[in-house]
Amino acid sequence: QAKNHDRVQAMVFSEEMYRKASSRLDLESQLVRVLEKNELRVYYQPIVEVSTENVVSFEALVRWVHGERGLISPLDFIPIAEEIGMIIPIGEWVLRQALEQVKQWRAEITGVENLSISVNLSALQLQDPDFVGVVADALSASGVDPVALHLEVTETMLMSDVDVAVETLHALRALGVSLSIDDFGTGHAALGYLRSLPVQTIKIDRSFVDGLNRGDPKATSIVDAIVSLARALDLDVIAEGVETTGQLAELRQMGARLAQGYLWSRPLPPDQVPSWLNEKRRAGST
Ligand code: C2E
Ligand code: MG
Ligand code: MG
Ligand code: MG
Repeated sequence: QAKNHDRVQAMVFSEEMYRKASSRLDLESQLVRVLEKNELRVYYQPIVEVSTENVVSFEALVRWVHGERGLISPLDFIPIAEEIGMIIPIGEWVLRQALEQVKQWRAEITGVENLSISVNLSALQLQDPDFVGVVADALSASGVDPVALHLEVTETMLMSDVDVAVETLHALRALGVSLSIDDFGTGHAALGYLRSLPVQTIKIDRSFVDGLNRGDPKATSIVDAIVSLARALDLDVIAEGVETTGQLAELRQMGARLAQGYLWSRPLPPDQVPSWLNEKRRAGST
């Protein structure tokens, strides 16, 4: 009896493993052709000024519109794209797409002439000897002022091959683009790196912002400490994942300059951005 039961469980387990492995193989082989098949989309999430709630920037966030599975999250396919090297062409595509998009919005929508755009990088791009040239080319092809481009890297990305990564950051900075540390506080990096890296902005990870205004004094202290640290180091700060007006009020009190989150908008497909901006302007601020 017991033996039988074990056998059934073992079978169910291996079927599950098989399904997972083969679904991953499917995704891998389909990812190779994702650009030819034009299945990637870039969504855009607004970044606002805490004091005025005016929109100053958008973050570009990639999605995969899969034939059978629908919209696939970057959390589910970026790691696979990194493993098979596809992140290099995908990352370049997102960058070019985002630059064309911000150029168009700056030209066509009133009140956003100084809009900037944030693009997430992968560790592999920082290790790619061609990457700085790709960024330079994408900037000149789009005609977007380099100061309007913000590239986001994580602490963890810098730790893989530090020398190459740091050299790339300096070369990017020399192009005039600005650099942000994404998911700040989650990466186990020693804080000293903030002093030596050419970084202008830190993005406070959502996991800390989430604890604001919930009677979680430790989360509040952490966010407060990061805001103070940023101020002391003359860095700009963005709070990620702001969902409530209570969290916004706390951030205002702390003097955090910028914020991003569902409180203002989820990431939007680009065709919804102009009407969202106009709606927001009608409702009051920008
Ligand atoms: P991230 O760069 O930290 O982006 C912020 C993530 O938080 C986004 O998830 C966004 O939709 C989500 N978010 C924003 N506000 C809120 C909020 O108020 N509440 C909650 N619960 N979530 C919020 P998304 O779009 O699924 O992206 C996940 C991650 O995938 C990104 O994290 C980034 O690390 C990566 N990623 C996205 N696009 C790209 C890309 O083009 N290249 C690379 N290398 N990575 C990307
Ligand atoms: Mg990001
Ligand atoms: Mg983040
Ligand atoms: Mg992240």
